[in-house]
Amino acid sequence: MYARAMKRIIKNLCVFCGSSNGAHPIYQTGAKELARAMGERSINLIYGGGGLGLMGVLAKDLKSYGVKVTGVIPELLYHLVKEVESDEDELIVVPNMHERKAEMYERADAFIVLPGGIGTLEEFLEVFTWLQLGYHHKPIGILNSGGYYNKLLSFLEESVATGFLKEAMYKTLVVSQEAESLIEELKKVEIKVPLKIDL
Ligand code: AMP
Repeated sequence: MYARAMKRIIKNLCVFCGSSNGAHPIYQTGAKELARAMGERSINLIYGGGGLGLMGVLAKDLKSYGVKVTGVIPELLYHLVKEVESDEDELIVVPNMHERKAEMYERADAFIVLPGGIGTLEEFLEVFTWLQLGYHHKPIGILNSGGYYNKLLSFLEESVATGFLKEAMYKTLVVSQEAESLIEELKKVEIKVPLKIDL
């Protein structure tokens, strides 16, 4: 008899995504598909707050599923976006970006990265780095809508090939163009970090 693979429970998902919609409708479609996949599984959202871009698309669509939407926003951004209509059940205003990220990372069971700009990229690379160092053991998924992240993934493969990124670390990333399978894979992926650090 085979033991059944353990599935992690994902109740709260932190999503990083663009504060813009992107130039192609496929990115909004991806955000909507993620909202549906989360809603059908009663997964709550932790995100950056505000109703802008893909962040707004995701939060708005999730509202109809009755799951909890929590925004975590630093004071500076809050004053810029407070007039924009948004869909949080809870909006946590924190003093700065460092506290925002600590709050988001703490509350999440897993992370998903949607297409976005440098803000999204920074959040992805930081949370991936924290995983590498063992500050958390939560899985990271990339929703590669329209192949948006192909070049980043090629770059990370190049980092593995050139000896700057451990292959086992790279393999912790779950990548899919399809939201439902991405969530299901995140439940299953095994995270064994920190990897041994060579001094
Ligand atoms: P970007 O990918 O450059 O559009 O930045 C998006 C990421 O940065 C989001 O995941 C947010 O955490 C943060 N961010 C950028 N702009 C805003 C904003 N106006 N309101 C809230 N968060 C923002």
